[in-house]
Amino acid sequence: MRILLIEDDLRIANNIIPALEMSGFVVVHEKNGEEGWFLGETEPFDAIILDLGLPDLDGLTIIKRWRKANCNTPVLILTARGNWDERVEGIDAGADDYLTKPYKNEELVARLRALIRRASGHANPIIRVGDLVLDTRQMRVSKNGQPIPLTPSEYKLTAYLMHNNNRVVDQMELTEHLYAQDFERDSNSIEVLVGRVRKKLGANSIETRRGFGYIMSSKDK
Ligand code: CA
Repeated sequence: MRILLIEDDLRIANNIIPALEMSGFVVVHEKNGEEGWFLGETEPFDAIILDLGLPDLDGLTIIKRWRKANCNTPVLILTARGNWDERVEGIDAGADDYLTKPYKNEELVARLRALIRRASGHANPIIRVGDLVLDTRQMRVSKNGQPIPLTPSEYKLTAYLMHNNNRVVDQMELTEHLYAQDFERDSNSIEVLVGRVRKKLGANSIETRRGFGYIMSSKDK
């Protein structure tokens, strides 16, 4: 899952980024409002964390622009303590959730996971696809009740496909959501990763649709 963090306070950003990375997210950080607005509108993200108090372009304007342009990525806003009217305005402008500074990283991570799940149609933190179970809180995948040990990149791939179950996901979408930067993107690496995950989860766990992409479907095999 790829997250855009728009925050001008580097102390806060440097505190958030490792916490998100440890939770399996890939983070793109932008400290400038204009740049952040542009990235959010033109690149695919699974969720956006937006500080409302930015020096050049304020967060409220950014959300309004995104929503007007039909950019519907889930947005969590960070607001200063006591600014309840700012939170109301943010939600009215199209933000999906908010956190008031100071907050705990654990809460930020939990809210992000919930936002991403709901955006893909899953209300429950446990996502089931066929005989596989994804526990988004513990970052674990199990099959028939047996936990399957996965590396971080194997987990990220499995979690993305399970969130998007019953939909064909092409290689470009996978590379965009699993890696932060262009230079990390290499279509071969996705094929290799899919192969490794199939070895662990079962040959039928991920189906290849030649020329289209990959799908994990929940219908009985
Ligand atoms: Ca700020």
